[in-house]
Amino acid sequence: MWFDIVITNGFVVDGTGNPWFKADIGIKDGKITDIGDLKSAKAYRSIDAKGLFVSPGFIDTHTHSDTTLLLANRCESHIMQGVTTECVGNCGSSPYPITEKNKETICKRMSRIAGGPEIDIDWSTLDGYIRRVEKKGISINVAALVGHGTVRAAVIGMENRAPTPEELEEMKSLVDGAMQDGAFGLSSGLDYMPGCYAETGEVIEVMKVASKYGGIYASDVREQILNSFIKAVEQCIEIGEKSGARVVHTSHAKPVFPRWGDEIECMRLWEEARERGVDATADIIFPVMCKKLSSIIPPWWRKEGSEELINKLKDPDTRKKIKHDTLTADWHARGRETGERPNFNNFVKAGRWGDIQLCSIYRQKMLKNEKFVGKSLAEIAELRGVDPFDAACDLIIEENDKVSGLAPGSQVSAGKILIKHPVVMAASDSSCKAATSPWTDQWAQPLRDYGTYAYLLGTWVREEHVLSLEEMIRKCTSLPARTLGLRDRGLIAEGMYADFVVFNMDTMEDKSTHEDPHQYPEGVEYVIVNGQIVVEKGEHTGKLPGKFLRYSPH
Ligand SMILES: [Zn+2]
Repeated sequence: MWFDIVITNGFVVDGTGNPWFKADIGIKDGKITDIGDLKSAKAYRSIDAKGLFVSPGFIDTHTHSDTTLLLANRCESHIMQGVTTECVGNCGSSPYPITEKNKETICKRMSRIAGGPEIDIDWSTLDGYIRRVEKKGISINVAALVGHGTVRAAVIGMENRAPTPEELEEMKSLVDGAMQDGAFGLSSGLDYMPGCYAETGEVIEVMKVASKYGGIYASDVREQILNSFIKAVEQCIEIGEKSGARVVHTSHAKPVFPRWGDEIECMRLWEEARERGVDATADIIFPVMCKKLSSIIPPWWRKEGSEELINKLKDPDTRKKIKHDTLTADWHARGRETGERPNFNNFVKAGRWGDIQLCSIYRQKMLKNEKFVGKSLAEIAELRGVDPFDAACDLIIEENDKVSGLAPGSQVSAGKILIKHPVVMAASDSSCKAATSPWTDQWAQPLRDYGTYAYLLGTWVREEHVLSLEEMIRKCTSLPARTLGLRDRGLIAEGMYADFVVFNMDTMEDKSTHEDPHQYPEGVEYVIVNGQIVVEKGEHTGKLPGKFLRYSPH
């Protein structure tokens, strides 16, 4: 028998968490057909992986590529990291199902993410969306969740009220349709509009339909409105447990500063749930926070736009009032009105001006303050001889409100603790794009968009020994596969799909920076999707072997 591809001489990390072993791998018709000594086997293509590691392709539990898949269908930013499968439709938001009630909102959101070009929406169901994606082809495998927020908006628009019994039935039937089309479960985003208007019972009722099909419940939890990460995780588990979800998954577990210590408490909640027989899991992301500097100021002072805000900041009496609100006001109580999270403001209220750096948004030079880029607000205040709040206000005025802040270390330490827990896995929370035009004209999230997996392996495994390589690979492969319900991916074993990443642990490195985030990582040599080579010696081959996966309980 001739193999299509044989990968020889590699250190095989099979995704189970077991120590690496030396073996050759034979691939035929898109599947793994042999593991052992295959040096004398006949093969059309052979890849010498001497000195390299061979693992299952990475499975990104949480992405927002719904829009960008249609444009950057080679999925460069993800596949160049070794990701071979990603899960879209997260945080309660999916571009399906579509009705007249939510079409405009979805159109607007999609063109915003796409950076301008209007996307003609010619689908209404998940099935229609899948067909649209398949028409163009993709380099990566995709699994999809259906968003509770989208379903709600499809029936009652953006109204702040409970659905009537008839409307609730309509929502349930839309979820039923998506599950029949192959969704892997339901996602929710309970701090965002319109998910923020939903009571717990509504989400349970809607989720029951997804549970009937074996779907998972994945939630961006209601931390801001409840003003407690712990209460939010409790609510998430309650919804999953009462609806009978196969898995209840806390998406990007990220206790918002300054409530350090919540990460320990939420691990206890997941463990208690598991003791009751509830399959509780979670993922972490790199929350490198980068926002307009003016977002430190409460939204009610900003709602008339930049020009008005600048005028107010120029007036000493008004500035005094704004300062008072910025340093004392609680936004969470108003979360449902504003739909905005006070993450950045939490740093300011805690006096952590040293944790916010000035940054220039990609390729947008500052008018007067370029010299301060990279310095913290505390440092800038000292250099200018003013109070940090006044330094921030002056920067906003001088730069016409086109100035950003960056909290580089935010929550990384909580992530390091959480990733060690057996049920916690990796995710990027990014959307696929490419280091070419038109993407390079837009801002991208450094680390998250292009470097999540290279950072996990290069920095957390090789440099900082946060976890062993084998355990980290498990969290990037078989654990997400098992959680989503992908039974034939995420492991190197005979009969599994041939999704691989072949990488060099000596050179693995995230290369993206705040100045130039559109950089592919180093160290990923080969990526194979469904038995076809998509990345070869670090270059994209242009192949589109990805499949849109549909969940089936059997
Ligand atoms: Zn998300």
